[in-house]
Amino acid sequence: MHFGAAFFERETGERGYKMEDTIASIATAVGLGGIAIIRVSGPRAKDILSRVFRPHRANRAMTSHRLTYGEVWEGERRVDECMAVYMKAPHTYTTEDVVEFQCHGGAVTAQEVLAAVLRAGARLAEPGEFTKRAFLGGRIDLAQAESVMDLISARTARAAHASLQQMDGYLSRRIHALQDKLLDTIAYLEATLDYPDEDIEPLTARRAAEEARAVQTALQEAVRNARAGRLLSAGVRIVLAGSPNTGKSSLLNCLLREQRAIVTDVAGTTRDVLREELDLFGLPVQLSDTAGLRSAEDAVERIGIDRAREELRRADVALLVLDSARELTPEERSLLRETSVPLVVALNKTDLNARTGVEDVRAARLPWDSCFSFAILLTSAVTGEGIEDLRRALYEAALRGASPEEAYLTNERHVQAAKDALAALESAVTALEDWTLDCAALDLRAAWDALGAITGESATEDVIDRIFEKFCLGK
Ligand code: GDP
Repeated sequence: MHFGAAFFERETGERGYKMEDTIASIATAVGLGGIAIIRVSGPRAKDILSRVFRPHRANRAMTSHRLTYGEVWEGERRVDECMAVYMKAPHTYTTEDVVEFQCHGGAVTAQEVLAAVLRAGARLAEPGEFTKRAFLGGRIDLAQAESVMDLISARTARAAHASLQQMDGYLSRRIHALQDKLLDTIAYLEATLDYPDEDIEPLTARRAAEEARAVQTALQEAVRNARAGRLLSAGVRIVLAGSPNTGKSSLLNCLLREQRAIVTDVAGTTRDVLREELDLFGLPVQLSDTAGLRSAEDAVERIGIDRAREELRRADVALLVLDSARELTPEERSLLRETSVPLVVALNKTDLNARTGVEDVRAARLPWDSCFSFAILLTSAVTGEGIEDLRRALYEAALRGASPEEAYLTNERHVQAAKDALAALESAVTALEDWTLDCAALDLRAAWDALGAITGESATEDVIDRIFEKFCLGK
């Protein structure tokens, strides 16, 4: 890897890349706001500061990590009155010299301050480039860098908390512990390979296989729980379906009641699919209310229904609302039979005389019952009966046994790397059973490498670039 930068290694063991250019960007969100922050990082940061910033009290030296009040000037034009801070390397976000300007918010001023900084010698930062520098500078690893983005895009407090934990290095510590185990086993195997002894080999192979299996078990568990981690960051899609008038909107309102709205402007609202966001015990949920599902002759309505069925196919969980005071219709029976995602049925209007019971629903669901997670809840949107249980059932159906507390692989990239490591471990165990210790050592190394891709030790440059491209500007 070169990253267009010089590699350094200090006596303290710290190592990383030192960048030659200085980058700048607006770090705060676009729009009206009290304050906007312009961030500058790189070897010329201090020089740029002295060119564009005039402290209010002349000749006042700027102390590192202290805010100073003053003005930004471009030539003889005063651009803004603001606060500025110079942060000396290496104790900064990027590990480089960093300067930040806290200027007035809004559409114009921040752009003008940025323009002044760029003219003074910085170049515009690419998305995620500040965090990439923190990674290349050796301050954080790749998984920690990814968690910065997860934290920014978190939609519930619980998701934010999980990202913060990962930023502290929780995931990296777990991965390193597994890698250390592998290294010990590799060293143990290699010692035997260096001094071959036919009496010892079978014993060595058995012990190494045990160690490899222990790592395998831990990783399998991690992959199983990763679902919870992904749901925490990416959110859960729950699709509400059912015939008209069964109480879908009423139940939706019950579910949303007392919920803090997560997102104010709901994107993707179409004429026939309404989306709402809710916080389900910390899982960010996007709940879509489809058009009433029933067979329709009318062509326009047909389109709406097709879209609803499409929504259902893509759902993480389907919530089917049935009216317990009516008999099941043929369409409802076919939905019960056909839905091939985890299904939660709310048998609603239990405050009225029942004409359909749990057993009727269960009978209509067969033979899928055993294939997909399936729960039936008795609810009343009028009395509030069963709403809390419904929430719990939706939560469990989404998680499918994964535990959010144990979810430390949080994205698809981590899961793929863990699966690569598992495949290599499988082949190591097979090699150990055949007493081919040299092959096993290679496979264990491959497993070690696959895990290293998570923390970035063995990630390739294009993978790293792809990760940071997805970041937002100014981070
Ligand atoms: P949707 O068409 O499936 O969205 O159904 P709505 O939520 O609009 O409800 C249809 C009708 O059923 C309305 O008059 C609601 O007040 C009523 N309703 C909804 N849930 C219940 C319930 O649990 N019990 C009773 N008695 N009526 C309900």
